[in-house]
Amino acid sequence: MATAPFPNHYTCRLVSASDSKACSVCYKPTTTVLLSQNSADFFYICESHLKDKTFAEAIPPEEYLTLVKEKNGLDAQIKALERKAAAVKPYSWNKMMNTIGWDNSQEKDEPDAQSDDKDKDSTPPKSYEELNKKIKELGTKASRLNDSIASFKFKNYKLDPGMYRMRINNLLQAQNRLRRQKEVQAPGFFPLAPSHLLS
Ligand SMILES: [Zn+2]
Repeated sequence: MATAPFPNHYTCRLVSASDSKACSVCYKPTTTVLLSQNSADFFYICESHLKDKTFAEAIPPEEYLTLVKEKNGLDAQIKALERKAAAVKPYSWNKMMNTIGWDNSQEKDEPDAQSDDKDKDSTPPKSYEELNKKIKELGTKASRLNDSIASFKFKNYKLDPGMYRMRINNLLQAQNRLRRQKEVQAPGFFPLAPSHLLS
């Protein structure tokens, strides 16, 4: 293929419900349109097909890559903390009871003890409980990031190579049809009957 009539880079656009048209894959009405970067090609498509890797793949923006990087960073931190926690894990029955929260009633009677705990946040966590607290904290952050990653709305897509070729063929065929129509309408396309017949 010499030069493609449009790049394999589509932007997802929306039209109003009254402008919805049949999806080019399943023919259900849809308001989502994929528009090629130079606007030479476009087609209607259900949002669900955009999640199908055999159809298209999202081109992740910087914002998305940052989220994934942050998430991977957190996962690594959590793993490291988990290793530390496993190393200092208490084996005595007493300590285990404390971890489960056996002395909860005691803590509630002494609110001062809790605020003391907060002051310790600036020092690196050492005990099993502290490490676990930190792991939990990071775990909440990680799952929040996971949600953002899972529900991320991509705007740009790259079609599967086979799909892309099909789109190009579609356009070339349409152009050929148009050229042919123009040719048919052009004077002299159909041979005219001779005008001066002798008999
Ligand atoms: Zn569809």
